[in-house]
Amino acid sequence: MYGEIIFLRAVVGNIPVYAEQVNIMSATFKFDADLAMQQYRKRKADNQGKEINNSSLPAGSPMYYYCKYCGAHTETLPECHMRAPKVVCDPCAPLRLHGLV
Ligand SMILES: [Zn+2]
Repeated sequence: MYGEIIFLRAVVGNIPVYAEQVNIMSATFKFDADLAMQQYRKRKADNQGKEINNSSLPAGSPMYYYCKYCGAHTETLPECHMRAPKVVCDPCAPLRLHGLV
């Protein structure tokens, strides 16, 4: 299972990919909770202290949003945006799906 996910990641580059997201060969690729949590902990440590505090910015500044689990930047929206911001990053989505975060 571990090697298969490494292979799959090598194909798509640096972004962690899980069977649930790619929807190919789902019989072969299984969700690896240990690897996913290992990557999650690294992501969380890497993102620590990088968040921009929106309230510290001058009026009219864009708003920065981050993943509520790992702190990764998810998107930047204009100050007066109408839709809800994305608050779960793509790599954390399967973790939430599996009840790991
Ligand atoms: Zn995240």
